[in-house]
Amino acid sequence: MSKKVAVLPGDGIGQEIVAEAIKVLNVLQSDFGLSVETENGLIGGAAYDAHGTPLPDQTMDIAREADAVLLGAVGGYQWESLDIAVRPEKGLLGIRAGLGLFSNLRPAILYPQLASASTLREDVVSGLDLMIVRELTGGIYFGQPRGIRTLEGGERQGFNTLVYAEHEIERIGRSAFEIAMKRDKRITSVDKANVLESTELWREVMERVAKDYPEVELSHMYVDNAAMQLVRAPKQFDVMVTTNMFGDILSDCAAMLTGSIGMLPSASLDANGKGMYEPIHGSAPDIAGQNIANPLATILSVSMMLRYSLDEAEMADRIDRAVDSVLDGGLRTRDIHSDGMQEVSCSAMGDAVVAALCS
Ligand code: NAD
Repeated sequence: MSKKVAVLPGDGIGQEIVAEAIKVLNVLQSDFGLSVETENGLIGGAAYDAHGTPLPDQTMDIAREADAVLLGAVGGYQWESLDIAVRPEKGLLGIRAGLGLFSNLRPAILYPQLASASTLREDVVSGLDLMIVRELTGGIYFGQPRGIRTLEGGERQGFNTLVYAEHEIERIGRSAFEIAMKRDKRITSVDKANVLESTELWREVMERVAKDYPEVELSHMYVDNAAMQLVRAPKQFDVMVTTNMFGDILSDCAAMLTGSIGMLPSASLDANGKGMYEPIHGSAPDIAGQNIANPLATILSVSMMLRYSLDEAEMADRIDRAVDSVLDGGLRTRDIHSDGMQEVSCSAMGDAVVAALCS
């Protein structure tokens, strides 16, 4: 039976980059025997314009019924003055929460062909292939109580709560170990166990989960050291698993090691491996409609989707190889262009990946 994919292009460049990703999915179907059904839905500003809400019920229904969701990006200037409850970004938070996507996978891969795009020395980053697994629905961003209160004497005090229950740590741990099993089988769990009791428990539970994965080597690192090591010697890491806030910060840091926001995919998974796949960048309203966006992060999101939710690792490998060969051939969209390379449009880049798949 063919798997179902919900396709939510969203706003801005979302429309353009998802169109290129669908070209790739289509050719895998027509020429390589992949079988998936796609159904489109509205999210973000496009959904607000059509239905008055950034996350219509129809979209949630399509997403719930699907085995995986492919998302472009949401947001744009024209919706910035809306009430916060109906802004495009609320659609994104709503679908993540609605689908229970607690495990956020953020790979930082630096193609050797693009090593000069990084702000770090080429020998430090060339060939980087790191996966950050961030807990996405718990920790200090969600903990109660929270707020701003007025103390005796009138001074105001802001407060948040960092809480992690064992089951929350255990499920993100399992998610990370499963991913490590598909990679180099090394995990670094990042915490602040020397200062925070919640992450002392984090460390204890990670040790417990590790017992079920004897092939995977687990190590622990304090978050301050992890930040330093990421910019000192990032290639030492294979999989990094961490809390919501630490992951938020470290994954952006890792993304920038690669120098190009237009190249990085991401995934958010639930407990059963169902996931939403999207580029890490936003809707880039400054370049929307010009056919110059880089579609590779979205095309690589399709590769992640095939690998992690649709059990089609061989198809994913085909996409990864095709992207590699297009970069080898010197084709570059404007964001990753450098001297001596051939600048191509968004659609020409999609066509080139399709051609590389078929060659
Ligand atoms: P952005 O990622 O959209 O853009 C940042 C810069 O990177 C811009 O100069 C843009 O042109 C460039 N860029 C981004 N993706 C690119 C691509 N594929 N190819 C070439 N260049 C690319 O971030 P922003 O400007 O802070 O936000 C713009 C809008 O996107 C806002 O409405 C924001 O809320 C939204 N946003 C959405 C998501 C999401 O949907 N997941 C994530 C971040 C921001």
